[in-house]
Amino acid sequence: MVNAFVTMGKGHSAMEQHCMAMGMAGLSSPSFNSHLIKLTEENKLVRQHVLRNAHSAVRRAHMEVDSSISDSDVINIGVSYDGTWMKRGHTSKKAIIDNIPDVNKMKKAIYATLDHAMSTDDKPLHSRCPSGEKSWCFFNRPLRSKKLFEA
Ligand SMILES: [Zn+2]
Repeated sequence: MVNAFVTMGKGHSAMEQHCMAMGMAGLSSPSFNSHLIKLTEENKLVRQHVLRNAHSAVRRAHMEVDSSISDSDVINIGVSYDGTWMKRGHTSKKAIIDNIPDVNKMKKAIYATLDHAMSTDDKPLHSRCPSGEKSWCFFNRPLRSKKLFEA
């Protein structure tokens, strides 16, 4: 329940109002905060897991291309800062940068990017990603589906 309200960008008072309206027992503010801390820790673990997976996927891809790279070698990887990465489907970081002044929007964006990053073909997780032609989520851009169906 805490996760649901945080995902909607709402805090303890919104959950309290919801519980009162529904005639449900709510959580005290300290309990809400302790759940929030636990969720934050879990999100940190998920983020580390996603980064570890991304790290090993990039390493594997480099090792496939260059057989001289060993498992313990440090690999230099070029990172684009000029904005071209936004046109290559790796644009979810942009969502976080766009929302820096608004903490609730930032939380939503973080959850969306976590889901987006963990998404697979078998289990797409783009329901929190923004939609529309300018969305950083390639999956939710209408052009993508048009192109697929027009081809
Ligand atoms: Zn997405």
